[in-house]
Amino acid sequence: MSDLYARHRSVLPDWLALYYEDPIEITHGEGRHVWDSEGNKYLDFFGGILTTMTAHALPEVTKAVSEQAGRILHSSTLYLNRQMVELAERIAQLSGIPDARVFFTTSGTEANDTALLLATTHRRSNTILAMRNSYHGRSFSAVGITGNRGWSPTSLSPLQTLYVHGGVRTRGPYASLSDADFIAACVDDLRDLLGHTRPPAALIAEPIQGVGGFTSGPDGLYAAFREVLAERGILWIADEVQTGWGRTGDHFWGWQAHGRNGPPDILTFAKGIGNGSSIGGVVARAEIMNCLDANSISTFGGTQITMAAGLANLNYLLEHDLQGNARRVGGLLMERLRGVAAQVPHVREVRGRGLMLGVELVKPGTDQADPDAAAAVLEATRAGGLLIGKGGGHNTSALRIAPPLSLTVAEAEEGAAILESALRSL
Ligand code: PMP
Repeated sequence: MSDLYARHRSVLPDWLALYYEDPIEITHGEGRHVWDSEGNKYLDFFGGILTTMTAHALPEVTKAVSEQAGRILHSSTLYLNRQMVELAERIAQLSGIPDARVFFTTSGTEANDTALLLATTHRRSNTILAMRNSYHGRSFSAVGITGNRGWSPTSLSPLQTLYVHGGVRTRGPYASLSDADFIAACVDDLRDLLGHTRPPAALIAEPIQGVGGFTSGPDGLYAAFREVLAERGILWIADEVQTGWGRTGDHFWGWQAHGRNGPPDILTFAKGIGNGSSIGGVVARAEIMNCLDANSISTFGGTQITMAAGLANLNYLLEHDLQGNARRVGGLLMERLRGVAAQVPHVREVRGRGLMLGVELVKPGTDQADPDAAAAVLEATRAGGLLIGKGGGHNTSALRIAPPLSLTVAEAEEGAAILESALRSL
């Protein structure tokens, strides 16, 4: 056990999750690579859990941040802030939400908390619909609605939450159904729930469940839900904390795969837009955003230093068509991994889209999750010089692949080869 690990264990909470039997201390990064304190170099297929959206140490972002740091790090949202207005204008326009207003926070948790505050106030209801196996953050209200039991340490909640089927297809009662039948069964389930409760304020859902193991229902699921919700005035909150900014390749936002009935009422974002600096936020129609009748600010939400990072990062992302890169390179990676999967009995499926790919591991010949296999693959890929993530329900048995969006074809192949050998060694 390293000295730093021992000190970590003695002063930080036991529940602060750590990867690897011998945890890594990352000291620096460049492009799609990071280095640890012992000088080992890794290809990064997890992007610091999707926070490094474009590339590590991207010169454009570094320059913007250091220039801003030389001027002022932070004033206050009580004063006008040019960078915040500019980033809000860009995000409002990109969101697809008409008459959009943007509020910046410092994390995805706080963004979702704000979305819940808006929805419950607007609808005068503290009942929320959330998806089974979902993850929405770690504040009291966010854990209260999180459906993934492994990440929800309390059953007490300020909100009454009802859980909806649809985010997971690998197992569960509807797993063997066709897309259309799956959607119809989930819609029936939703109608049934709604028949037994006070009118909820909103449905909150991740278009692709992140912590849940990069799993999703069929395209169009949320459009079908939307019809049922709209009949009753129930809002739809899309949690785009992992799926936004082109990561899914085909679309800029995850909701667009379900977009037949238009954009969500409220959209939350965080993680990668700051390329590692802490930006979160909420986008909603003005009518919803402005329903609060008391003042509010977020001290560090919208601070100049993070807005400078966000603007530089967003410009780079759009100018270099990283969404297109996610589609192309992610498509190749998916094909390559599906080829390997066909030969490794532990792999139940390879799923996802763009550069958000999940590999579900099971005990061979069964449908049972295999968390030990997932842990073994993580150790083996690390030994081979590749960082990946894991996720899933309580039994974490899905591998998660979410590299910086500038991943090259050669790097995709290099990483796939390391992953292949780790999977074959199971
Ligand atoms: N929503 C989703 C979908 C997430 O994946 C996360 C973080 N894993 C959050 C919300 C919470 O974001 P944060 O950790 O920035 O509070």
